[in-house]
Amino acid sequence: MDKFVNNQTDSVMTASPSKDWQSCSELKMIGIYGGTFDPVHYGHLRTALEVKEIFQLDQLRLIPCHQSPLKNSSQVTPFNRLQMLQLAIQDEKGLVCDSRELDRKGHSYMVDTLKSLREELPNTTLLLFMGNDAFVHLSRWHQWQTLFAYAHIVVMTRPQSEKIPLCDFLTQCFTTDKSELSTKTAGKLFFQPVTQLDISATVIRKLQATGRSIRFLLPDNVIHYIEQHTLYNLP
Ligand code: ATP
Repeated sequence: MDKFVNNQTDSVMTASPSKDWQSCSELKMIGIYGGTFDPVHYGHLRTALEVKEIFQLDQLRLIPCHQSPLKNSSQVTPFNRLQMLQLAIQDEKGLVCDSRELDRKGHSYMVDTLKSLREELPNTTLLLFMGNDAFVHLSRWHQWQTLFAYAHIVVMTRPQSEKIPLCDFLTQCFTTDKSELSTKTAGKLFFQPVTQLDISATVIRKLQATGRSIRFLLPDNVIHYIEQHTLYNLP
């Protein structure tokens, strides 16, 4: 299996080295893109590709959560979500799937994920990417302030989107100077405009459940997987 990062070799899938695998000491800056990916779609993929290029990341790790503390559980298995994600990124160099949240089971807390990444990569700059929609609920995340001890947070915004009011803590972290993200390994908050396609996994699930087409919203090989495994057929 290609493009796969996994610390626990006997877990969800078997990993093998790929051309994207780099030793930890070679990684200066990596991105972390968490989500349910239920299923992964072009909204995720386009933004992932853009931030990888904009920040010249050595890697962008897409990390599917086992169970989001803020969402209902999925109709499909974590293994299905992981496989769809792997299919979607298989031809894109630098995009890597990381299964650590699935290995941990239970609720997935980003603070635990960042802590384990920081332990593995003590000198690497970590950029945690999230959309505006996720950022507005940041204060509901478990130990949200501690996220900044391990990583910078980059909020992916729509071009010309309205400014979000920040609390005192976030105001102190906030910077408009992108170079600060490479001179420090964690602790800053930055806003990055990206192309945001108006696609959501919720809409894809609804379309599939009602027999409507989901073509052009996500990669064809993922659609094929959904059909093969008869996923998302329940309303
Ligand atoms: P759902 O509809 O099930 O809530 P979703 O499509 O919003 O799912 P998630 O997996 O929950 O996808 O999102 C993971 C991350 O991807 C979040 O940071 C979210 O802001 C971002 N994201 C989701 N959809 C888009 C999109 N269309 N464009 C850009 N970013 C997106």
